Amino acid sequence: MDPIPFSGSPLDREGVRRRDRAWLEALLADPASRFLPVWQAKPLLKRELRSLAWAKREFFADVEAPEPVFLGNGDGIAHFAVDVSAVEKPEVAFGIADVASFDDLRAAVALLPAADAAIAAHARTLVDWHARHRHCAACGGHTRSVLGGANRVCFDCQAEHFPRTDPVAIAVVVRGDQCLLGRGPGWPAQMFSALAGFVEAGESLEDAVRREVMEEAGVRVGRVSYLASQPWPFPCSLMLGCVAQAESEAIAIDPAELEEARWFSRDALRAALAGSRKDLGAPPPFAIAHHLIRAWVETDAGTE
Ligand SMILES: [Zn+2]
Repeated sequence: MDPIPFSGSPLDREGVRRRDRAWLEALLADPASRFLPVWQAKPLLKRELRSLAWAKREFFADVEAPEPVFLGNGDGIAHFAVDVSAVEKPEVAFGIADVASFDDLRAAVALLPAADAAIAAHARTLVDWHARHRHCAACGGHTRSVLGGANRVCFDCQAEHFPRTDPVAIAVVVRGDQCLLGRGPGWPAQMFSALAGFVEAGESLEDAVRREVMEEAGVRVGRVSYLASQPWPFPCSLMLGCVAQAESEAIAIDPAELEEARWFSRDALRAALAGSRKDLGAPPPFAIAHHLIRAWVETDAGTE
């Protein structure tokens, strides 16, 4: 399977050394350290060559911003993300409108180098989580960032809070030479993708796949095999990609979840992935569904 977009960051998160506050302080003050500004969940990207636009600390020294969060070390240089959401018209305020812009990551990912996409996903998710967890879920007190932003701790009750990750089960449902895909309400008429839903409390991944497929499409699933995962930073999901073996064929959709579900042959999906069918579109390569469908399509070609 090809590398999954948003995964595979080249940065070392330094899980042991980041416990050392003095070590982090030194990195924050190091003129070689690089900072990725994030404004209202949008990372700063260079306009010409689409890539992350790293800044020096002086870049945001005069604006209101929380302490930068540590993303990791790469090539001996510390990399941080900093939330500059409080700045109005940031491209103008920072004087960078000609060379860089804060862009929606979902729209930009297809143009970014794989390493930059993975770092941007980490930055987006972590900065967003800090912005939304300034108060303790246990006592309502104020929380502070610790371990370079890997956690937060409550000032009042000392409760530790960890960055939230929401698991999503996503599956291609297969039966012989057929694969079940669905189309959500409001999607383009020719667009079909793998069925997906949040894993609920007290539920295994396999149970979640079986429940989702039954709820959304009325199809009974037996064996579920895990294939690959993808961090999905909108805002904090982890897509858990599976292949599910169907034990029934009749489709009964839940119209609240799906507008349509259909069985497709390998040939039809092979053509859709290649972009050669106007009447059937596959998910884009930055979505794990694309890779799940491709893995199944290529199974009979002996590539898996
Ligand atoms: Zn508390």
